[in-house]
Amino acid sequence: MDWYLCDEHLINKKTKTMSQTDNEQAAIPEGATQAPSEYFTGTAWIKMLVPPNDLTDCTVGDVTFEPGARNNWHTHPNGQILVVTAGTGYYQEQGQPIQVIQVGEAVNIAPEVVHWHGASPDSRFTHLAINPNVSKGGAVIWLQPVTDEEYLSKM
Ligand code: MN
Repeated sequence: MDWYLCDEHLINKKTKTMSQTDNEQAAIPEGATQAPSEYFTGTAWIKMLVPPNDLTDCTVGDVTFEPGARNNWHTHPNGQILVVTAGTGYYQEQGQPIQVIQVGEAVNIAPEVVHWHGASPDSRFTHLAINPNVSKGGAVIWLQPVTDEEYLSKM
């Protein structure tokens, strides 16, 4: 199952929005859905801004990670661009150290590179996830979770 695509699983999952708690209200977009726990550690929220379409064949998702949350190791058959829009996050490619990424920065990820992204331990983190050519091979291939040992190797 591909969480970057607006599949039935995500669409049918009832939306839990920021309005449910006061201190979360600023950060979670209205209409965001909780990211599937099989591909995420901790809590994350996804709102598809540009669903799969014939005009550009490119999807854009707004993803917010609570502090400490991250996605599994994964690859993108056609690469991915992340644009950080809030908070401080982590990005790691297999065999490389964790990179800290901040608002205004972008990460350009080549096809088939094994990586993960998520919040830093003390900051909620939001990025846009831009996936090109999703009709050709899909948007993401999920691998194993990022362990606490891997996640905390930055500290
Ligand atoms: Mn990715």
